[in-house]
Amino acid sequence: MRPDRLNPLFADAASLPGVGPAGARALERLGIARVRDLLFHFPVGWRDTRVLASLADAREGERVAVPVRIAAHEPSRGRGPFRILADDASGIGMVLAFFGPKASGLASRMPVGADLVVAGRLELWNGRFQIIHPELTKPDAPATEPIYPLTEGLTSRRLAALAQAALARAPRLEEWIEPGLQAKRQWPGFGEALAVVHGRPDSSAARDRLAYDELLASQLAWGLVRARRRRQKGVPLVGTGRLTRPLLESLPWPLTGAQSHAISEIAGDMAAPHAMLRLLQGDVGSGKTLVALMALLIAVEAGAQGAFLAPTDLLARQHHATLARLLATLPVRLAFLSGREKGKTREEVLGQLAAGEIDILVGTHAIFSGAVQYRRLGLAVVDEQHRFGVAQRMMLAEKADVPPHFLVTTATPIPRTLALAHFGEMEVSRLAERPPGRQPIDTRVTALARLDEVVDGLARHIATGAQAYWVCPLLDGGSEGEVTSDPDEAAPAVARAAMLRQRFGDRVALVHGKLAGAARDREMARFQSGEAAILVATTVIEVGVDVPNASLMVIEGAEAFGLAQLHQLRGRVGRGTARSVCLLLRGEKLSETARERLKMMRQTDDGFAIAEADLRLRGSGELLGTRQSGDQGFTLATPEQVERLLATADADARLLIERDGGLAGPRGAAARDLLYLFEKDAAVATLRGG
Ligand code: ADP
Ligand code: MG
Repeated sequence: MRPDRLNPLFADAASLPGVGPAGARALERLGIARVRDLLFHFPVGWRDTRVLASLADAREGERVAVPVRIAAHEPSRGRGPFRILADDASGIGMVLAFFGPKASGLASRMPVGADLVVAGRLELWNGRFQIIHPELTKPDAPATEPIYPLTEGLTSRRLAALAQAALARAPRLEEWIEPGLQAKRQWPGFGEALAVVHGRPDSSAARDRLAYDELLASQLAWGLVRARRRRQKGVPLVGTGRLTRPLLESLPWPLTGAQSHAISEIAGDMAAPHAMLRLLQGDVGSGKTLVALMALLIAVEAGAQGAFLAPTDLLARQHHATLARLLATLPVRLAFLSGREKGKTREEVLGQLAAGEIDILVGTHAIFSGAVQYRRLGLAVVDEQHRFGVAQRMMLAEKADVPPHFLVTTATPIPRTLALAHFGEMEVSRLAERPPGRQPIDTRVTALARLDEVVDGLARHIATGAQAYWVCPLLDGGSEGEVTSDPDEAAPAVARAAMLRQRFGDRVALVHGKLAGAARDREMARFQSGEAAILVATTVIEVGVDVPNASLMVIEGAEAFGLAQLHQLRGRVGRGTARSVCLLLRGEKLSETARERLKMMRQTDDGFAIAEADLRLRGSGELLGTRQSGDQGFTLATPEQVERLLATADADARLLIERDGGLAGPRGAAARDLLYLFEKDAAVATLRGG
């Protein structure tokens, strides 16, 4: 439970002086429910108020405070404002204007004859200076004032006053930042940092400190979750080499260094007495399937079963075919299951699986559905789904008495900072190297208007015996998640296939999401076997499809695709040793971002560089699938601060947990406060009962 000393920070914002129900509602609109939220609602800028003795040297548009004597009231006539006439010390007249129903009430605070200091932005009205809705201030009021993000019914002044009241209530807390680091960065303490942020324009060190606090809390929380997992019992699986050795010997090429390294990391995890949770990250074509297969074989060697889950039926079938080929001469019992296996076939697989007569089951989500029972599930591999969530993992864990080892692969090149912040629960292996002998993909942008030339090029390409993809965009069927009546989203692909068939006949295969399963398999198989030379497709081939003989990728309507998606699609070629070409066909009109994207695609085929660019162009939300652009999941830390401070926070958090895993020492106790402050209560809870 949260310690009492933090209570003042978690008290309702409505408990602050002068906040009534309407004020509380207005604060709520800004996401401010508690005192803490108010303190974390930072000014976005500061404004200067020039204190004038007289209006003589004032300029239009300037923000000023000026002493005046109220001369007359001119109540509103019709739609006009309530006007108050006032004179400055040198007798220059000005107008104070109030609009709206509350005008006369406000004006009553400025009775005729009163000497006041009014502040606001100077405008010109009828040749005189005017301030609309002036604020009353004091001659010695601060010359700079914070500007807060606002909502109706709140002013920056009001928020500033509330922030000061909140600061007065903030308890003094022990320092949780490592003293050496704090000294080096010259960071103020937590309370002082808050006071500086709300009190002065030059607050960069204070803002960094508070951003760091948020990042440290996040990384500490991940560290505690990882530590808890390590305390939970798993089944150690140690390979014998009985299967992996002959597999490696049968391959026509050696493993890349990155593959060997990842395999040894995985083997190390699997040999540990707690369940592995590892993300295998590698750019398209880096050879993740083989790494996954090696892990599966280790499980089988250790007497357990392995499950290999692919995101689509198409991909699951391809993986099954690949594994069947690679395992052809090895004593491994491989089976396949997707939602399309019904009746007897399905019963048979389920029976064999439960009896332990299947070693590796490849398939779609069906392999973890209700009726499926494993005899001894030791490892689950989930291919190409970094979004595979905690809930899904729990479902999967239920398929075994003890949580199975777990490996997720992704070709989404997640920048390091994002990986730290969002996948902090997992260990990460990276395949930073591609198999040797790959030639760079020659990427060109061509106008769709030159379609005839492109088709001629395609004819020359397949005449050499090579194969090609032709990807068409989906017809936009309304916004995400919305069920629309028509739309035949595959229409562009169907039409393009029909056109190409006029010239190339049945050497053209076609796959799209609307095609019935069996028909899709048939078309895919025709392409995989080489019988079809051209595969026209929608983005169903976006992830994972592997046909090394295909070395031309045409992407029609390339401007409609995101950068990461273009990179994934392009990654379908460049897998063999032949030189590959990617043609991006674009329409007439391009938006600025589309132009940027296509340029980036021409410049590099480094997935990480592309991910970084994508992050800049769209924000991390899209990359991670949360779709809130720019949202990194942090409130205080800006993307720039995340970039600059997260790695340090992560290292610091790891060190602290290593030294004081129970957060029991003095710094540990302070760190608990930090975790509560950033609402990582669940992470603190892992400390008990462990
Ligand atoms: P991805 O990481 O995109 O899933 P794949 O596992 O599909 O990549 O591998 C891409 C291609 O590279 C496949 O055709 C695979 O057989 C081949 N490959 C994998 N490892 C190596 C290697 N060490 N040397 C050469 N080719 C390899
Ligand atoms: Mg793959």
